[in-house]
Amino acid sequence: MNIAARTAKSDTSGIDLDGFSKGLFIGGTWQEGETGRRIPVVDPSSETVLAEVADAGLADAAAAVDAAARAAPGWAATPPRQRSEILRRCFELMSERAEMLARLISLENGKALRDARGEVAYAAEFFRWNAEEAVRIVGDFGMAPAGANRIIVDYQPIGICVLITPWNFPAAMATRKIAPALAAGCTVVLKPATETPLTAYALAALYKEAGVPDGVVNVITTSTPGPVTSAMLADPRVRKLSFTGSTGVGRTLLAEASKSVISCSMELGGNAPLIVFDDADLDVAVEGAMIAKMRNAGEACTAANRLYVQAGIYDRFVAALTQRMESLAVGPGTDPETECGPMITAKAVDKIDRLVEDAVTRGARVLCGGKKLQGTGFFYPPTVLTDVPLDADMSCEEIFGPVAPISRFDTEAEVIARANDTEYGLAAYVFTKDIARGLKVSRQIEAGMIALNRGLVSDPAAPFGGVKQSGLGREGGSHGVLEFTEPQYIAVTL
Ligand code: NAP
Repeated sequence: MNIAARTAKSDTSGIDLDGFSKGLFIGGTWQEGETGRRIPVVDPSSETVLAEVADAGLADAAAAVDAAARAAPGWAATPPRQRSEILRRCFELMSERAEMLARLISLENGKALRDARGEVAYAAEFFRWNAEEAVRIVGDFGMAPAGANRIIVDYQPIGICVLITPWNFPAAMATRKIAPALAAGCTVVLKPATETPLTAYALAALYKEAGVPDGVVNVITTSTPGPVTSAMLADPRVRKLSFTGSTGVGRTLLAEASKSVISCSMELGGNAPLIVFDDADLDVAVEGAMIAKMRNAGEACTAANRLYVQAGIYDRFVAALTQRMESLAVGPGTDPETECGPMITAKAVDKIDRLVEDAVTRGARVLCGGKKLQGTGFFYPPTVLTDVPLDADMSCEEIFGPVAPISRFDTEAEVIARANDTEYGLAAYVFTKDIARGLKVSRQIEAGMIALNRGLVSDPAAPFGGVKQSGLGREGGSHGVLEFTEPQYIAVTL
C-alpha cells in the first residue's frame, strides 16, 4: 500500500470556496437563518474546517416551503419544452464546471478526485436525461371496457417535494431527485447532509444561473434534521418525501410521513453480495470486484459487502484481489494520485475497525490492511479478509469502507441462499462466463439491481432502487420522473 504524505492543511487549489454563498438558499436569495448558528464543514483528509454553513430552524423550514409554494403554480404551468431547456442548461453548466465541482466534492467528502470526477459526470447526466423526459410525460386515452365512456389519465406534478440526501454522493444524490422533480413540474426543498453541504450550495447558485426560477429549488442545512423535517412534512402543501440514506432513518421518516399520508420514495441501505463462479473470467471478476468494492473507497450503498467465491477459483481470486488492494494509493482525496481517500468521519473509521475486529475474533484471516491508520485524517487502509464466518457482524451490517470480506462456497443453491439471507435487497454482482446461468441466478437473487460480469450498475437511464428494506420506488430511467407525478383519471362520456 502506498500512503501519501498527510498534512493538517487542505488543498483548496482550483476551488473558489468564496465563489458561492453558504447561507440558506430560499426563494432564490441567500439568507443567514433564524438561529444565527453556523455548522462547520470539515475536510476528512486534513481534519481542518473548510467553511461554515447556516443552521436552519423551524421558521426557515417554513419559509422554504412558502417559497416552494409560491413558485409552484408558475413552474407547473411552464411549458415542458421550456422546463426541458432549463434542465439542459443545468447539465451544460455542470459539465463546463466539472473540474471545480469535482475538487469541491473531493475536498468536503474526501473521495479520490477520480471518483469525484465520475460523480460529477453521473450527477450532470440526470439533468440531461430528465431534460429529455420532461417533454415525454404522456398520459392515456381509451374506451372504458363497458363502452359507456372514455378514460383519460393525465400525469400531474405531485406538489411540493422535500428531498433529503446523504453525504456519500453530495452532487448525484441531489440531482437524481431535483432533475426529475423539476421535469415533472414540481418545486422542492432540499436538505443535504450536514457533512457535505458545500456542493449543494454551489449547485444551487448554478441552477439559478441556468434559469431555474426563484423558489423552484430551495436548499437548507440544519443541525436539527428531525424537527425541521417533521415540521415540513406536517405542512399540508408538502405532498412528497424523497429520501436517500440509512434504513434506520428511512424507517423513522416513513413513520413521520404516515401522519400526513405523504407519498414516499426511499433509497436506503444495502448489503450487496458479489458472487464469483468457477467458470468466471478471473480478470473480469477481479476488475469488477475492485470497482464494486473500492469506488468511493467502499462508501457506496451499492458497494460489494460480501464476496462469495466458488471453491475452484477461490485461491486464484483471493491472491489477485489482495495484490490489487495492497497496491492502491491511499491519500487525500484532492491528490490526483489517490485511489483510496479517507472515510467521512472518525466515527465511520471506528465502525469499520469494530466490524473488522469482530470478524477476526470469530476466525477471519487478515490478508492486508486490517487496522486503522494513525495520524491526520480519517483513513482506513484497503483490507482483505478471508474465511469470514456467516455470523460476523459485517455479514449483516453495511461496512461502508474499503474492506473486502471473502468467503468460499461450493454450490449454486448454497450461494443463492446466502446472498438472500439479509433484510436488504439493493444491488448484487454475479460473475460467470455462462450468460444463461448468470441470468437464471440473477432472477433468483432478491435485489433491485444486478450487475452481471460488471462492477458498476448505476446509470441515469436505468431504474435505480431496492427491494426489501433497501427501499421503495425507483430513481432514474423512465420510472424516476413518474415518482414526482400523480395520475389523475377523468371519466368522460363522449
Ligand atoms: P443517514 O444518517 O440516514 O443520513 C441521510 C440524511 O438524512 C442526511 O441528510 C441526514 O442529515 C438526514 N437525517 C438524519 N436523521 C434524520 C431525521 N431524524 N430526520 C430527517 N433527516 C434526517 O445516512 P448517511 O450516513 O448520510 O448515508 C449513508 C447511508 O445512506 C447508507 O446506509 C447508504 O447505504 C445509504 N445510501 C443509499 C443510497 C441508495 O440509493 N439506496 C445511496 C446513497 C446512500 P444529517 O447529515 O444532518 O445527519
